[in-house]
Amino acid sequence: MAKILIIEDEVKLGSVLAKYLQTEGFSVEVALDGPGGLEAAREGKPSLVVLDLMLPGMSGLEVCREIRRTSNVPVIMLTARAEETDKLVGLELGADDYVTKPFSLRELTSRIRAVLRRYVPEQPRDGRLVCGDIEVDTSARAVTVGGQGAALTPAEFSILTLLMENPGRVLTRLQILDAAFGDAFEGYERTVDTHILNLRKKVERDPSNPEHIVTVYGVGYKMAPCPAPDRGGGDRA
Ligand code: CA
Repeated sequence: MAKILIIEDEVKLGSVLAKYLQTEGFSVEVALDGPGGLEAAREGKPSLVVLDLMLPGMSGLEVCREIRRTSNVPVIMLTARAEETDKLVGLELGADDYVTKPFSLRELTSRIRAVLRRYVPEQPRDGRLVCGDIEVDTSARAVTVGGQGAALTPAEFSILTLLMENPGRVLTRLQILDAAFGDAFEGYERTVDTHILNLRKKVERDPSNPEHIVTVYGVGYKMAPCPAPDRGGGDRA
């Protein structure tokens, strides 16, 4: 059962949401302020976070930024119509989607399902990751591009694997560092750029115009969502 963490200071809205999502088959936890929400996001291992932007103690944007330092959990922001810039900043900070207040419970629920669907890995976990012409065999630690073997350094291999396991997700430089070296050193984030540059030369058709490993300005990188070969398209991504 997917667990949804709701961070919302309007008690009534929070409990209405919680009840509705429970009847829809989710398990739900509610936090009423920023610091409490951040703690719940870290400790409670939610599958998805619904995050209100206007919170006491710590703004939703700060909460989002802090969550992203250590976690890839999908985040859907709740914004008021007037908070247009916050919306953009939120997406840059790594939120996955937003819903504008007032919203219908059905709308939020379908967004939650869509985001969860997007991030639950659909590829069989047999050690093979495929995206377009790139194929990674994690057990053999081998990479092919268009059927041709590509020689990657261990760091490049770890970074590519991380990106391919999270198609469409924005990963911060710190998260990438952590995955590649098992340790995130603040101040060393820029070395990620160098690895990415080299990686693109090996897996992109045109490294100066990458179609797979995309820069997300101000945040980090993501693997462009891979075309699903067996589905006839039309699926909302
Ligand atoms: Ca609020």
